[in-house]
Amino acid sequence: MIDTHSHIYLEQFDDDRDEVNRRAAEAGVTGIFMPAIDLDSIPKMEKLKHTDISFYKMAGIHPTEVSDELPEDLESKLTEFCSRDDYYGVGETGLDYYWSTELVEQQKKSFHLHCRVAKEVQKPIIIHNRDSTDDMLEIIEQEQDGSLTGVWHCFNGTVEEGKRALNLGLHLGIGGVVTFKNGGVDKTVARLPLEKMILETDAPYLSPTPKRGKRNEPAFMKYTAEKLADIFGLSLEEVDKQTTETARRLFGLDQS
Ligand SMILES: [Zn+2]
Repeated sequence: MIDTHSHIYLEQFDDDRDEVNRRAAEAGVTGIFMPAIDLDSIPKMEKLKHTDISFYKMAGIHPTEVSDELPEDLESKLTEFCSRDDYYGVGETGLDYYWSTELVEQQKKSFHLHCRVAKEVQKPIIIHNRDSTDDMLEIIEQEQDGSLTGVWHCFNGTVEEGKRALNLGLHLGIGGVVTFKNGGVDKTVARLPLEKMILETDAPYLSPTPKRGKRNEPAFMKYTAEKLADIFGLSLEEVDKQTTETARRLFGLDQS
């Protein structure tokens, strides 16, 4: 299995990162993609060395970390990082109107900027979206010139929104929320194509049931995979095979 969205480099894992990664490997995780929160995330990611698990870096500014004024050199800096062979995506970026709507214009500007970088370096964009679906999809529509790829991370939209995202060339990142009893995300996911879904944890956040409320870690992704198997009437192995193939194709792992 590939965890396509995990902040394993954050300080929440400083005390037991090796243990966490060992448990992930035991649970069948072979690769972990690391979206950045900000540029400070990058030196922390650089410290992670491949073990039984391969670690894949990405660079970007999370929408809640966007400042009043975007640094002038942000686009060139991100392009520089993301064009390197050991960087696999641009993000995370996107929109978040839940925590604050004060900097909506700056968030949008930053999201557009990330889309441009993604098209420039030909790598997928990692999209965070909270209470901002219409604006998020509208920006993707504006930026889509046939070359933009990416993932709507932690998908929790409606069937219609999911289909619109797929038509715009996006994939759906399926995380712990699909296991929540009251969310209804499982019913939505059931009506969308598994071939366009990839697995993720968003560790240390959003632990799946039965670990809900605890610190999330990549090993817990098995609960999300089991839920998908349940939803689609498949075995865990089939879900693993399909989602891993999709992730490898999206992030270009088979080309290198
Ligand atoms: Zn994240």
